[in-house]
Parts: sequence; structure tokens; C-alpha cells
Amino acid sequence: MTSLFRQQAFIDGQWLDAQHGSTCAIFNPANGKQIGSVPNMGAAETRQAIAAANRAWPAWRALTAKERSNLLKRWYALIIEHSDALAEILTLEQGKPLAEAKGEILYAASFIEWFAEEAKRIYGDTIPSHKGDARIVVSKEPIGVVAAITPWNFPAAMITRKVGPALAAGCPCIVKPAPETPFTALALAALAEQAGIPAGILNVVTGDAVAIGGELTASADVRKLSFTGSTPIGKLLMAQSANTLKKVSLELGGNAPFIVFDDADLEKAVDGALIAKYRNNGQTCVCVNRFLVQGGIHDAFVARLAERVAELTIGDGFSADVKLGPLINERAVQKVEDHVQDALSKGARLVQGGERHPLGHGFFLPTVLAGVTVEMKVAREETFGPLAAIFRFDDEAEAVRLANDTEYGLAAYCYTRDLGRAWRMSEALEYGMVGINEGLISTEVAPFGGVKSSGLGREGSKYGIDDYLEIKYTLMGGL
Ligand code: ADP
Repeated sequence: MTSLFRQQAFIDGQWLDAQHGSTCAIFNPANGKQIGSVPNMGAAETRQAIAAANRAWPAWRALTAKERSNLLKRWYALIIEHSDALAEILTLEQGKPLAEAKGEILYAASFIEWFAEEAKRIYGDTIPSHKGDARIVVSKEPIGVVAAITPWNFPAAMITRKVGPALAAGCPCIVKPAPETPFTALALAALAEQAGIPAGILNVVTGDAVAIGGELTASADVRKLSFTGSTPIGKLLMAQSANTLKKVSLELGGNAPFIVFDDADLEKAVDGALIAKYRNNGQTCVCVNRFLVQGGIHDAFVARLAERVAELTIGDGFSADVKLGPLINERAVQKVEDHVQDALSKGARLVQGGERHPLGHGFFLPTVLAGVTVEMKVAREETFGPLAAIFRFDDEAEAVRLANDTEYGLAAYCYTRDLGRAWRMSEALEYGMVGINEGLISTEVAPFGGVKSSGLGREGSKYGIDDYLEIKYTLMGGL
């Protein structure tokens, strides 16, 4: 195993065990075998990390933007150089096919590269003054110590999308990775250390989520919380952050509609559907949860999707040519099973799959259900698994109504060849992101984020650094 496989946490530039020596075992979701362990840290070690970050902050913010940018570029180069080893660690703990893991590492690295560039473009403003003897200058300053709490579905990219802009802006960071996938986070930290990012600027604390999260949110020294995960935990962390009035960014759950109109290009819609539904085995917050298909194309779409889904190969992410790995854990499998059973019991039709795969563990057959209606659980709750639930609609107004009939508002997809309809849909969909005739919308150059219960703030793009900055207005008077 590569030297990047670290089983200690990283605080203040040091690799540490938990103060009381306890550890958490980490398992491979493809076979249930233990792959290692990480320190089971809590409040005390989190306080240590916050203090270290606070100490390191003045020197980090005092660097020129170019100096910080150069360190980030070195980190980026090391991630690329070690992308194969990182992908192996990622597949081992998360399960996604190795090629997809490699794709994630490159995607993760792209945020470091992007924000290394953006570091140099944190521009301010001058404003024409309201007084003859005064001038108004607006500058941007780093907000301070940042806490990043991240999920297991993208163990690398969800970290770099937060740490990249934080470090670029001049903020130190404390990362609490998902308990299922700490090794990718620790490997990234090892490369940051190698890149020369100073001690205390990037810390990774593993262990007890409640204790670590409690300390991070209670601390007045932590000025910003960036969280990606479930909506209930996002709301909880926002409430916990209220006492210290932290700035919060929340990237939460979704219930993405994928709308196919009669005039869509069928093959392209099915291609998009496969990516938007089955990428990461359905475990992304922008994965389609509801297919809304117009009457005229409905049967052809269902048949073609089922045909393509039947071709998807399933297995251990390390086996050649595997397209779908395991789900992250037993709880995730049970949720898919529950949504399938609930829909079938209320009249949905099973077109493909519908049960566990003979491989056992986290493996579930990619599934297609037709005849899905709003009474079924899948209409409201995010399945987070390989279930394509297909609803039928008649006209554009009904498509919009169904699509927006959810508390969530992250990503929506729409397939049509009518330009006017494409614009109308883009404007009518109450979502932070809309893909028209495209199933893959994530990129470091565009703002990622949602509305309603899907969260607050945007990550990536030129907007993604704003959440890590404060605006300062200076009035130069008495000139
Ligand atoms: P999931 O159910 O998909 O794991 P969560 O929202 O529970 O989604 O987890 C996302 C991240 O939030 C993980 O890093 C997890 O450890 C963390 N987390 C969960 N509960 C808490 C909590 N009470 N305080 C702080 N972090 C938490």
C-alpha cells in the first residue's frame, strides 16, 4: 500500500493518534473487510486543531496571493502525480469503480487548480464618494478559521471544493471527513504537507462526528462552516452555529427531476439519463430521483432505458470494466429496497432489477420502475441508489408543476429540441442548477448549489470564493 495511506489524523502539521488511543475501524463496502482504522478523536483534539489553525492564520493571510497560489499549484501537481494511488484508496473505502475514482481525483484536483488561479483575482472596489473630501474603498478579507464537514459519496472532491477556496482566500481549514471515507482525506493532507502548506493551515480530524461537529460549531474562533451532507444534519449544524453567528454554506439533499419531452432526442436523453442516474451508483446529490416523461415518448424511453440499464456491469470497483460498484453500506441498500417495495405496493411496474445482487454486501441491481406516482416515497425522498423511478405527464405545465413539487431545489434536467421550451423550462424550474439536454453538469468552472431545502451558498466558479471572504469598507476622510 502506498505511503499516502495514513491511519493517523493530521493536526498542526503532525500525524496524531487520539488522545485516549481509541480508533474507528474502516471497511471496504465491496466485501465488508476491514481496510484499516483511524483515530477516534473528539472535542479535545478538535480544540487543538482550532487553536493551531488560529495560530497559523496571521502568517497565511499575510502571504501574497501569488505565494498562496503557488503553494496550491504545488499541491495540485502532487495530486495529479499521485492520482492513481489516490484513486485506489478512494475505491477501497468508497467502492466506486476505479475509473470513476480516478475521474473524481481529477475533478477534485481541478478545484485546487481553479482556486489557485482565483486567489490572485480577489478584487475590491472603489466607490464614488458621497463627500468631496473622502474616498471609499472596498476590500475583501479572509473570514478566518473554516470548518469543513464532508460526506462519503465524493471523498476527495467535496473536500477540495471547500479547502481550495478557503486556502486561496487566506483562511486555515479544519476538515472533518465522513466516517466511512477518511483515508482519501488523509492522503490529500499528506500531499498538502508535501507541497509545503504550513502547519495548522489544513487539519484533518477523524472520529466522533457529534463531538467534533459540536466543538467546531460552538467555537467563536471558527468563523465559517461549510457542510455537504443530508438536509437534517445541515439544519442541525446551522442551528448549532447560530450562537456564534457563523457564516454557513450548506450543500444538502436533492430530489432531481429529469424531464423528457416528446420532441427530445431519445438516444441522447437515455445517454444523459444513464449518467445522471447511475453515476456513483445513484449516490450523488444531483442524481436523478424522478424521471418525468411525456406521454408520446414514454414507452420508447422506458424500453430503451431498461435495455441500456441491463447492460451495466456490476462488481468490485477494482475489477475491469465494472460500471457500478456497491452502495456504501447496508443502510443504503435497505433504503433502495424500501423505495422499490413501497412503489410496487402502490402500483408501480417493475421493468428492470428490483432486488439485491447475488454478490451481497452493498450490491443492488440497477432498477427501473414505471408507473410511479406522487403517493410513493420516491416522489418525496432522495433514494440515493440505483433506482430510476418513471412518472408520466401530459403537457409542459404539468411537467413544471411535478418538477417543482418538492421541498428540494438542487439540480434539474430537461430534454427537448424546442428552443423556446428549453428557455421556459430553465426559468420555471425552482432549482439552483439546470441541465438542458445534458446529464452531467458538475464542473469547477460553474457555480454548484441549491435553493429551498437543498442549501445555501455556491461552490466552485468565480462565486465559490465569496463565502470565504468578508467585505471591508474603508472611508478615507479629511483629505
Ligand atoms: P449521510 O447520512 O449520507 O452520511 P450525513 O449528513 O449524516 O449524511 O453526513 C455528512 C457528514 O456530516 C459526515 O461527515 C458526518 O459524519 C457528519 N455528521 C453527521 N452527524 C453530525 C453531527 N451531529 N455533527 C457534525 N457532523 C455530523
